This record gives sequence, C-alpha cells and structure tokens, in this order.
Amino acid sequence: MRLSSFYLPTLKETPKEAEIVSHRLMLRAGMVRQMAAGIYSWLPLGLRVLRKVEAIVREEQDRAGCQEMLMPTLQPAELWQRSGRYDDYGPEMLRITDRHGRGLVYGPTNEEMLTDIIASTLRSYRDLPKLLYHIQWKFRDEVRPRFGVMRGREFLMKDCYSFDLDAQAARHSYNKMFVAYLKTFRRMGIDAIPMEAETGPIGGDLSHEFIVLADTGESGVFWDADFKPMELEGIDYDDPEKLDAVVRGAMQFYARTEDRHDPAAFEAQVPESRRRQGRGIEVGQVFTFGTKYSEPLGAKVIGPEGEEITVEMGSYGIGVSRLVGAIIEASHDQDGIIWPDAVAPFDLALINLRAGDADCDAACEDIYAKLLAAGVDVLYDDRDGRPGVKFADADLVGLPWRLVIGPRGLKEGKVELKRRDGSVDENVTLDQAVARLTDAAGG
Ligand code: ATP
Ligand code: MG
Repeated sequence: MRLSSFYLPTLKETPKEAEIVSHRLMLRAGMVRQMAAGIYSWLPLGLRVLRKVEAIVREEQDRAGCQEMLMPTLQPAELWQRSGRYDDYGPEMLRITDRHGRGLVYGPTNEEMLTDIIASTLRSYRDLPKLLYHIQWKFRDEVRPRFGVMRGREFLMKDCYSFDLDAQAARHSYNKMFVAYLKTFRRMGIDAIPMEAETGPIGGDLSHEFIVLADTGESGVFWDADFKPMELEGIDYDDPEKLDAVVRGAMQFYARTEDRHDPAAFEAQVPESRRRQGRGIEVGQVFTFGTKYSEPLGAKVIGPEGEEITVEMGSYGIGVSRLVGAIIEASHDQDGIIWPDAVAPFDLALINLRAGDADCDAACEDIYAKLLAAGVDVLYDDRDGRPGVKFADADLVGLPWRLVIGPRGLKEGKVELKRRDGSVDENVTLDQAVARLTDAAGG
C-alpha cells in the first residue's frame, strides 16, 4: 500500500478527550473515529488490526472444535422475558420497538437466543456435545463509556456457548475454551492471566476472567509473582484428563480479581515477597452455569433411557475490539504503538527518504515490488515530505519492521533495517533486506 493514496488521517495534536494511552494512540494513528459516546467507526488502519485479532480468535475457536455461526444483532424482547433477564439487565440493554409495536433489544450477549435455537433443533443425547460461536457486534448502554474501544457501547465480541449432557462433559467444554483462550492471547503477543472471577449477571458456578496487566486497567487484581505462563504446545483437546491437568496447573497459583479476593487465603498461600497487587484489563471471560438458561427456555434432549435431560451450558466471551486497545496498552512507547507481529496492520514501513530522487525512487519501487511478491505486507511511504515527519508517522503507526532508503546509504548500496521494538538496527544491502523480511514474513 502506498501511503500517498492510503486513507490514514493521523493527528499531530493529542486529543483532549482521550484519558489513556491506547485511546490517544488509536485516534492519533487514524485507526478509529468516535461517532457518538462509545460508538466508533473503524478506519482502514484500525480495521486491519481488528480483522487480524478476529482471525486469530476464529482460528483458535475452530481448532478447539467450535463451529462458527452468525446470529443477528437485534433480538426479540420476548426471549429475554422468558429467561427473566429482560428486567434484570436494566438500563444497560438498548430496547427498541418496531413499527408493529413489537419489542426488540440490541443484543448485549446471546445466551437466550442460542439456547432457543438449540431448544427447537436438538432432540437426542447423540446430538451433544455442541460448541457454537459467533463474532458479532454487541450493544451495552454503559453508564460511563470511556477509554475508547476498551469500554465502548457498541463493541465486537466473540461469544461461544457450550451444550453438554452432564456436568462432567460441561467441564470438559470449559477446559477446552480455557486452553483455547490461553493460546489465543499468546498468539497475539500478550500474556493474559486467568483469574478466578465472580459470575456476575450471567450467574453460575465456575468462572475465570483473562486479564492483561496494565496500570490503566479497570479491574483490581492480586497474583503470585511466581505465576508462570503455561506450556501450550501439543495439547490434545480430546484428552479430557490431560486438558484438565493443564487447566488446574494454570489455576494453581493464586490469581484473583478484586471481587473474589480473600486476603487471608492470599497470605496463607503466597509468601510476602511474591505477593503482587495491581490493575488489569479483562479481555475475556469463561463461565459454566448449568441449566440457568436451558431450564426456562426448554433446551432438553432425550437420553439413552428415553428420559428427558436438560442440557448443561457454559458461555465464553472475548472482547475482540477491546483487545485492540489492550494490546496497545501492553505494547507502546512514548513515540507510538509497537505492534506484535501477529496483529500488525502491515509488516513493514518502507520509507523513501527523498521521494523525487531518481535513485531513491527506483530502489524503493524495486524493493516494494519484490517484497509484495514475497508476501510481505508493506506500507510504502512514497510521500514527498520531510524525513522527520515520515519517521514520526512510522513510529506512531508502529509497524514491526522499518526499512529506510536514502541517497547517502544508497551510494554505498546500503539501507537501514530496524525493528520497531529496538531489537534490530542494521545497515544491510537491498538483497539482504529482502531476504531478511521475506524470512520474517514466513515466505
Ligand atoms: P466488564 O466487566 O469489563 O464490563 P463484562 O464482564 O460485563 O465486562 P462479559 O459479559 O464477560 O463482559 O463480555 C465478554 C467480553 O467482552 C469481556 O471480557 C470484555 O473483553 C468484552 N467487553 C465487555 N463489555 C465491553 C465494552 N463495554 N466494550 C468493549 N468490550 C467489552
Ligand atoms: Mg466479564
């Protein structure tokens, strides 16, 4: 993509309304625009990241054996009346009346809707288990939408729902999602710690939140400094015992959210030198809740002995749009964003230091074509502008790699290749640069 034609409305000034760094950087880098409180348009650069995050979430759901579907954003109010949540949900739920006077809600979550679909389509215990998900916009009329896409009113969520015959099978589904979440967040280059959590308005028995540590996070968290990232290679989703061992391993260290914190237990389990307290961002949450929705909505199957069995359920959410902000909170410096490779909007910023100079133009065009052919996603700064502006924009946008081509270096056949995170900063030949970048892009 040529920057001269790419729609990238960056801002020089720091927007006043943005309280936290990810919100500031997303506005300044031209990723999103606010349309109303907590409601955003995603501009091309932002959408590229959102799609990458979404693709990783989707792949890991599919690998864990979930099947994707798509439910609408608008739901009949009547479903929520049947589950009893129409009144419970309160003013956070956006209620709409259509021209015939029928009640609709803009879905804040989909337990009712999918349970209703299952109730009217599944008949036999042989139809279970089922793990179904969708990635769809939700609306919650938050009292205080803030922090940009981190606490929006309209936001993109992946929500998965499990349907099982008994509590043990439901636990296996829970464990699958638990491990899928660890893998998902790790692929995005962030460490999300599973923390025991209150079940909240969804209700139920077991729940974990996945928390990215950040000072600007809204959740108070307590953890054991010895908490270690889990080994996730080669885990077989169809081996319930192994899977359970992995999940219990991840839970063995004390890690609690504020609402579940028990200071006495913390002190008994964790020596003082290892006790940590801080803040974090909830990027996902998993729940099991038995028959809370299947009972009122009549999701039953016929068991092996001809008996009726009410299905056991769980639900599993990931804040896809929130993750874009959370990743920036976890990975930036004073000059801008530092994208982890897996979610970066482009792989490389190619900077032509003197657009209009015949040698620089020729070298840039040549390497641009070679890199594109090799599958490297390049944002080529071909603008006629000052180097300082180009460097500042490149730092702000934060692509993992930067390749600078200028007249002086070119005379010696050299270009400057750099990693945004500072791990590489070298003068190399054009061919070495192509080889290096092609390698990094996995080509
Ligand atoms: P929170 O406690 O932050 O309000 P929640 O517990 O109400 O979130 P869930 O019902 O667990 O949210 O939804 C699943 C995921 O959706 C959350 O883990 C979070 O990542 C994301 N999410 C929830 N509310 C918002 C929001 N207002 N804006 C962006 N993402 C959100
Ligand atoms: Mg939650």
